[in-house]
Amino acid sequence: MMQRVRCLSLLLTITCQLTITRQYANAATDVPTITAKWIVIGAGPGGTSCVGQLLDEGVDSNSIVWVDKAFNVGRLGACYRNVPGNTRNLVFIDYLYHYKSFEFNTCSIEYSLFKGGHNDTCPLNGIVQPLEWVTHHLRTKVRSVQAVVNNIAHKDGIWHVHTAEHVIIAPRVVLATGSQPKDPLYQAQAHQTIIPLDAALDASTLPAHVTPTDVIAVVGSAHSAFLVLKNLCALPTAKIVHIANTPVCYALEAGRHIFYKHTGLKGLVARWAREVYENNPPPNLVKKIGEMCTLSDLAACNKIIYARGYQRSPVPGLSSELLNNYDSHTGVIAPGLFGIGIAFPELVLDASGQYEYAIGLNGFMHFAQRVVPEWIALKF
Ligand SMILES: Cc1cc2nc3c(=O)[nH]c(=O)nc-3n(C[C@H](O)[C@H](O)[C@H](O)COP(=O)(O)OP(=O)(O)OC[C@H]3O[C@@H](n4cnc5c(N)ncnc54)[C@H](O)[C@@H]3O)c2cc1C
Repeated sequence: MMQRVRCLSLLLTITCQLTITRQYANAATDVPTITAKWIVIGAGPGGTSCVGQLLDEGVDSNSIVWVDKAFNVGRLGACYRNVPGNTRNLVFIDYLYHYKSFEFNTCSIEYSLFKGGHNDTCPLNGIVQPLEWVTHHLRTKVRSVQAVVNNIAHKDGIWHVHTAEHVIIAPRVVLATGSQPKDPLYQAQAHQTIIPLDAALDASTLPAHVTPTDVIAVVGSAHSAFLVLKNLCALPTAKIVHIANTPVCYALEAGRHIFYKHTGLKGLVARWAREVYENNPPPNLVKKIGEMCTLSDLAACNKIIYARGYQRSPVPGLSSELLNNYDSHTGVIAPGLFGIGIAFPELVLDASGQYEYAIGLNGFMHFAQRVVPEWIALKF
């Protein structure tokens, strides 16, 4: 008898949960509608941090729909596996164990991340691999939809997220949609080729874009520019021209504080910049530092790599004016619309009193921990 009661109550629970995500044809678009309380768009580290935090806060896993076009750990997984990370292994390990809902203690795979020293850094594949496990694990808990979001609209107080096969509706949407390399400063001239930044960041893909007679300009002054320079200096080229409007800046540890934590060079790239770039540069490296890059700086170069940082990827249906309303302290973009990750980072005060954006996993984790409970408390 008790067993039958338990079965009945289980059936009732499942039925109740299904009503949350019940699908029915949407009259306007003729595709099935999924109803949820939360939609998280993006399964890079930003979206993963958000889903982990929502679950840790006790939000019903059946009320969350997680959408991504690939579920492959975002840009890190798609483009940067071979790129050296600038975060200490211990910080990545802390991230993985921080979220109860990740249940990373149940993972028995011995990832390379755990084999390096805690204070060492690793190629980003070191964190991508365990995050693949986490993504898979979280997808067993929340409802996930693998699809491209092609429109987002706000109607009658509800957000409508459109894909080719569904309309997902919810009062709250979190954008963790990531960023992409900034556009070139200038259109390439007839004799010039622009080498894509993603190819230049990876030492295994850059050689295919470079020949020994090339004169190559690298434009930029932050981590990605120095990583590109490090890769280029290892290849035979006629000349490398580094054009940067600010001098090299390192993250500096001073006791419990780190100055320029998010914007300064760290790890392998910082070591290379000190040892090679500053103290023993190759003879074919020319530096033009402290000036804006002009067309005449580039005229003598036949290849150009723009490493000027990243810009928010467009979000279909939402204007850049709306997205620029993003509050970098609360993560609120509009009523029921929130942002996290590299596209919507927290603005933090570093130890030197400078404001900078917290754009790493650790930053996303702290931001999610603070703002997700606030988002949950907002009534819609
Ligand atoms: C070269 C480089 C090195 C870095 N190294 C480190 C490091 O060592 N340590 C560190 O902590 N951080 C590092 N970062 C910073 C940061 O952690 C990464 O940039 C991170 O990938 C950002 O995560 P995200 O989730 O915000 O964005 P992304 O990783 O870009 O994820 C966005 C996701 O949204 C999805 N998406 C976007 N639009 C749509 C749509 N319309 N429909 C469906 N899906 C969509 C994409 O498929 C993607 O999966 C590095 C960044 C770069 C560029």
